[in-house]
Amino acid sequence: MFKRERPVAGQSGNRKNVFAAALAAAALCLGMATAIAADGAKPEPLLAYGARIIGDDARTRIVIDFDQAPSFSIHYIANPERIVVDLPATAFGFDTKQLEARGLFKDIRYGAMGEGSARIVLTAIKPVKLAIAKVQQDEDGKGHRLVLDAEMTSKEAFAALVKAQTWNGADDQQVTSAIPAAEAAKPGDFVIAVDAGHGGIDTGAIGVDTKTEEKQVTLAFAKALADRLNREPGIKAFLTRDNDEFLSLSERVQIARQNHAGLFISLHADTLKQKDIRGATVYTISDKASDKLAADLAERENLSDQIAGKETVAEPPEVADILLDLTRRETQAFSISLAESVLNSFKDQIGTINNPHRHAGFQVLRAPDVPSILVELGFLSNVEDEKLLLDETWRGKMADLMTDAVKRYRSSVVANGG
Ligand SMILES: [Zn+2]
Repeated sequence: MFKRERPVAGQSGNRKNVFAAALAAAALCLGMATAIAADGAKPEPLLAYGARIIGDDARTRIVIDFDQAPSFSIHYIANPERIVVDLPATAFGFDTKQLEARGLFKDIRYGAMGEGSARIVLTAIKPVKLAIAKVQQDEDGKGHRLVLDAEMTSKEAFAALVKAQTWNGADDQQVTSAIPAAEAAKPGDFVIAVDAGHGGIDTGAIGVDTKTEEKQVTLAFAKALADRLNREPGIKAFLTRDNDEFLSLSERVQIARQNHAGLFISLHADTLKQKDIRGATVYTISDKASDKLAADLAERENLSDQIAGKETVAEPPEVADILLDLTRRETQAFSISLAESVLNSFKDQIGTINNPHRHAGFQVLRAPDVPSILVELGFLSNVEDEKLLLDETWRGKMADLMTDAVKRYRSSVVANGG
């Protein structure tokens, strides 16, 4: 079994400095004393130990208690209307019940973003603005409070707030500058990107029984799978994330491509409304979903960036490029072949759902040149599956079978001159 982990502060000074620079550049920086050490030393994460939310759908106040004065910056994002509060690395130690969405907000998320940073995303039911955003010292002088007073506003006023900020996806820069290298990959090695779904502020699904977060299940399994793959000569597996941090969907794709991955395997354990459905599923990409379940799942997965307060970036228009088209088609054939190899390995060993090879428009499978699959290991909405997902022995067996599948896939590709 594995333990629940508290959000961990960043290790990489490099990334942190980039973020610090991005933060400094951010407009509307209402920060107080900063907790990011200027000399690049690893700062202690702040502790948010309490929270309160009161008010109605005209005015809502949120108060969060910190052990030290937090620096923070605010920005607004449209579609849907959101307020994003960026903080230095923060351990959120209060009970989730203390900050349940109400009043002007229909969803509240908080958690780690990149290393050395955390974020609160408040999704509103209508256009909102913060009348007050400040840090106050407690009366006893021991702690500090972040006070956010939100009030309803007009569509036009909200649009003006969005437009007035120069914040421009600043947090995209921090991660691309710190792509984890596929260490020690030798020429000729078969490089595999193992992608633990969700992370940081995006917890993913929550287990029915033990309330286990999907982001923890996927990370534990990703580590087991990468370790297992790395025991094979000629295979070099690496993780897109190796701790509890948020990565956008395009960052995951980018990390795989920049490390010249020959395969991308994204791992998930979602929930379904139908609690009796259980077993593994392997997905490949397609513009048209194979069925309703696949379509719904892809739609939910693709919300990850929105949950984390990312702006929805319009997809660049498809360029009519015959070469890219050919690459895409070839990659697609390889992805399907890998998916089938994985399902062959599962046969009689691992339970799967009906028609276990499905397809839908998953953003994370969009690399045109890296064969990619998304594996739903099981469903956290099913009590039996949840038990297996938390079972280290089961994880080991699953990792063995997937490694066999990768080896078989690789030899078939080599045999066909790929
Ligand atoms: Zn998921």
